[in-house]
Formats: sequence, C-alpha cells, structure tokens
Amino acid sequence: MRVNILLECTECGDRNYLTKKNKRNNPERLEVKKYCPRLRKMTLHREVKK
Ligand SMILES: [Zn+2]
Repeated sequence: MRVNILLECTECGDRNYLTKKNKRNNPERLEVKKYCPRLRKMTLHREVKK
C-alpha cells in the first residue's frame, strides 16, 4: 500500500521532496511544512502525483 509521492511547494511550485506514504493510513492529500531551498524558508508542501 506504500506509494511514491512528490511534495510540491505551495508558494513557488518547486517539487522539492520525493517520499512515500501509506495510502491506507493517509488517504487524504498530504500537507507538510518543509524547507524550500528556492525561498530559503519553511513553506507548506502538498502531495502531487508522481
Ligand atoms: Zn518553494
């Protein structure tokens, strides 16, 4: 049930992180605070399909 996903910065659109999630535990679209190297600060990153 683990699938690969990309985390996209909601502020600049860069896809900064490749990660995995468990579809059963996290059926919702993942949203996490991550460091964006382009903006050089923490921003909200949202799951996008690979
Ligand atoms: Zn960004």
